[in-house]
Amino acid sequence: MRENDPDDRYSDYPDVSLHGDEPVECPSCGQPSGSIKCYNTLILLFIWFFVVWWPKKDVGCPSCIRGKIAQFCLINIVTANILWPIIILPWSLVLFCMSFSQGHSSEIQAILRDTRRGEW
Ligand SMILES: [Zn+2]
Repeated sequence: MRENDPDDRYSDYPDVSLHGDEPVECPSCGQPSGSIKCYNTLILLFIWFFVVWWPKKDVGCPSCIRGKIAQFCLINIVTANILWPIIILPWSLVLFCMSFSQGHSSEIQAILRDTRRGEW
């Protein structure tokens, strides 16, 4: 008989990495996608020495999230003004490149994993 190993307590759960890319409905367009992304963006308002920002999470399938990244990039041209090329443009380019990666983003995988554990 095998001893109860405390490090073995997660062996009852399925390996989520094997199922992590199962299609999930995109919250924006409703289409099932195995590549839902959740990215942190913000609206940055910069007026001389005064800076304020409103963080938000954008979620969607690759085509929806690219639209939201474009929106994030364009809105902040006006509000972030001189900070736009320093903060917003590089941030947008990184998110845009990340949107081409396969599979759900790590935050979505964590939500799916927690949801599955709750069902067991
Ligand atoms: Zn979508």
